[in-house]
Amino acid sequence: MGDQQAFDYLVIGGGSSGAIVAARLAEDPDVSVCLVEAGPNDEGKPEILELQRWPGLLHTEYDYGYRIEPQVRGNSDIVQSRGRMLGGSGSHNICQAWRAPDHDMRDWEAMGATGWGPDSTRTYFDRVLETTGLEYTLPDNDAALAYIEAGKQLGYPERKMGANAEEEGVGWVALNSKEGMRQSSSVAYLHPLSKAPSNLAVLTNTPAYRLTFDDEGSASGVETAKGTFYATREVIVSAGAFDTPKLLMLSGIGPADHLRDLGIEVRADLPVGKHLLDHPEAGIVFETKRPIHQPNTVFCDAVLLSKVEGSGSDWPELMMWFFSGDFESFTTGSRTGEKITPEGITAFTIAADILHSKAEGTVTLRSTDPADPPVIDPKYFSDPDGWDEWILLQGLILARRIAEQPALSELIAREVQPGPEVQSDEDLLEYARSTAYTAYHPSGTCRMGAPDDPDVVLDPELRVRGVGKLRVADGSVFPTLPGCNPNITCMMVGEKAADLIRGSR
Ligand SMILES: Cc1cc2nc3c(=O)[nH]c(=O)nc-3n(C[C@H](O)[C@H](O)[C@H](O)COP(=O)(O)OP(=O)(O)OC[C@H]3O[C@@H](n4cnc5c(N)ncnc54)[C@H](O)[C@@H]3O)c2cc1C
Repeated sequence: MGDQQAFDYLVIGGGSSGAIVAARLAEDPDVSVCLVEAGPNDEGKPEILELQRWPGLLHTEYDYGYRIEPQVRGNSDIVQSRGRMLGGSGSHNICQAWRAPDHDMRDWEAMGATGWGPDSTRTYFDRVLETTGLEYTLPDNDAALAYIEAGKQLGYPERKMGANAEEEGVGWVALNSKEGMRQSSSVAYLHPLSKAPSNLAVLTNTPAYRLTFDDEGSASGVETAKGTFYATREVIVSAGAFDTPKLLMLSGIGPADHLRDLGIEVRADLPVGKHLLDHPEAGIVFETKRPIHQPNTVFCDAVLLSKVEGSGSDWPELMMWFFSGDFESFTTGSRTGEKITPEGITAFTIAADILHSKAEGTVTLRSTDPADPPVIDPKYFSDPDGWDEWILLQGLILARRIAEQPALSELIAREVQPGPEVQSDEDLLEYARSTAYTAYHPSGTCRMGAPDDPDVVLDPELRVRGVGKLRVADGSVFPTLPGCNPNITCMMVGEKAADLIRGSR
């Protein structure tokens, strides 16, 4: 491969969405496609592919491990993990597989994302799930089973979780895996790479630095660590909710004031990096009377979905995860080694995840050096009406109620975090805000909407407004964050993006 090669399409970022865009475009033998990925290949690496080993990927060379800015009201000690390899964060994640609820997809359409409603996206969700396949967490993890029983004792119906997040329920979790091996976009759409069609070039260990443009101002290619590559038809950026806005801004597409402050020539003044959305979560940790958690599929094998009385919402607003272990093992503790939960005890956590968090953060550039990480400020709990913290408080109260049910209470020796002395709403909220962590679902930083909406970056066909031959396809395009884990929705975006691109030819 020379360092000046031209292709019909360049796809930048081989993650959950990008690998699918590239693979689907390359199904047409008459076009050439180049997938440019910053990280290494995942193929043949059991530490990535064996799903149960996912916590071992946190804070390694496979993880961008972005630190967030100090938070005014939330926990500042958060590392935003993102996968740095083929398959992206889908090679790093827990593979909990959810189809986005219809009501969220209706919201997308109502916000101007024409063609992204439930009926128009169903085929693409189907394509993803048919390609990855689904399996469920093992139904004999003793503690997770007790959790499901406790949920039933509280009146939640038992059902298989994943098909939809529209209804309340409790149960085992759907996974995009096969016999414990993750089915990321890389595994399901690209492997084995040796059999990739000859019109698809996959460049790994090739970070993109900046886009290039032709005389008309349309995207023409990308400068990378391995030279400049050109696209005769289109460039598709799929670098994820932090790195897509970073790459666009480094290329002169973003908020004009911010770009000028850094001396970057402005090509398009667009709200790139605004509206950062996430799912914050906080948990109550319990010590158990005896060793539990065997066998274990992914360390969070059971989940409960709950509406919240008084919220005014008709849909579940809380996703209550059962974690086999203390909360820190999956969050800050694994980075710093400083644990609040005492060593040597067996514990589990019930974590409450805010499904429609209203706080919106920002992603900006630290400098003009592509090697610098972006500045990430999620602005957790900054929504003016206090919805997020109120929902989280209801979640922690619900966590304690679940733990009080006979099926679970007989396992519990004591509450370790925050501890029974923390009872008032005020104290519980203080604990929730100061320990709340990301569920690793950042999105919305290049959102799509009506072509004439000044508050969006992309039109509903994912084209960057005002810049020719350039699209974005990944979690950054979400107008809102659906009320479930978003990986399958990112993959759906990849499927639909490929059809939009093919259709426009
Ligand atoms: C620890 C963890 C657990 C999670 N668990 C779940 C779960 O169980 N279920 C679920 O639904 N979701 C989960 N998620 C979230 C989900 O995986 C992501 O939302 C989804 O993978 C995002 O897809 P994407 O295509 O937007 O970006 P990504 O998949 O992150 O892909 C971006 C790709 O772009 C590459 N890239 C970045 N910058 C450049 C550059 N300059 N040049 C070239 N390439 C670049 C990256 O290396 C990466 O491969 C989890 C995430 C993490 C980190």
